[in-house]
Amino acid sequence: MNTEYLKDVIDGYPVISKLNVNDLEAGDHTFWFRVGTNALGQWQHLPVMVFKGKEAGKRFVITAGVHGDEYNGILTSHQIGEALKGKVTRGSVVIVPTINLSGTLNHNRDYISNDPDHSTANLNRFFPGNKEGNEAQRYVFNIWEYLLKPNADLAIDLHTQTSGTVYPLYAFADYRMPDCVKMAKLIGPDVILDDPGDPGILETVWNRSGIPSTTLEVGMGRYSDYPLIERSVKGVLNCLCAYELIDEGSCEVERLVFEGKEVSSIRAITGGFYRPQVELLQLVKEGDLLSIQTDAFGREVRRYLAPRDGLVLSLNVEPMRATGALIVRLIH
Ligand SMILES: [Zn+2]
Repeated sequence: MNTEYLKDVIDGYPVISKLNVNDLEAGDHTFWFRVGTNALGQWQHLPVMVFKGKEAGKRFVITAGVHGDEYNGILTSHQIGEALKGKVTRGSVVIVPTINLSGTLNHNRDYISNDPDHSTANLNRFFPGNKEGNEAQRYVFNIWEYLLKPNADLAIDLHTQTSGTVYPLYAFADYRMPDCVKMAKLIGPDVILDDPGDPGILETVWNRSGIPSTTLEVGMGRYSDYPLIERSVKGVLNCLCAYELIDEGSCEVERLVFEGKEVSSIRAITGGFYRPQVELLQLVKEGDLLSIQTDAFGREVRRYLAPRDGLVLSLNVEPMRATGALIVRLIH
């Protein structure tokens, strides 16, 4: 498969429908990737940046915005793009900042279809897509088949916690694949989860296609956290330096972080207002107070205690929580 250039140029950038970094000239490239149409038949285009070195090397793909309300991931990918201008000497880096266009435009986690018969879809359960499927499945298929899969030896997918909740800098890595762990440690998150993966998740599909990947969660959904973005950018650049794509700066060694094998999620038994009694990354013992729930009158109705020892991985930052919503997540 060769890079397929269409006749269109939008905002000065060429429109492509297929990308193969192997046939590009060395240097920096900006494209619009034609992914599919809306229900009016208008084409939708994903922004794509490519940085290709003069020498052979590892090919990275960095994605963000698979969930449309996770802006810290998108901003991290933008800043990585700025930092890489003219700097990649070996291999290549493809950056796709907003995988889920309709979700991003609507401040929504999900993909929002124009088909009235199509529920909103969590795209991170839909990879590698389906050519004959519904609108979201076909959308994912085009991205996976013609943009992501052909261009990666290694991959990083940037996310945040879901809106209303917060993570620290938190990576998922499948410990059966050494490069997944290596990348996660080079990025230097606060916490890594040994994650065997689940079907439909981009990280899992990368790994099962033989392309080691890590998912990085950059703080909270919807709202920006610039210090954490800065740490994420430095971490990813450290990773690219260690894999010899860029020469600038001194590559640090893999960093020591808290590594966990399991998480437990404490969820609201009934709806109400939840005030966390712990902080992110705090170590707790079984029975420690995690959260206090008040009712519609502001009166205390319930206390939530730690079911076992662990480290606080996530909290609610929006006080009102529905029945079953996450209030605290621990990692063990
Ligand atoms: Zn996400």
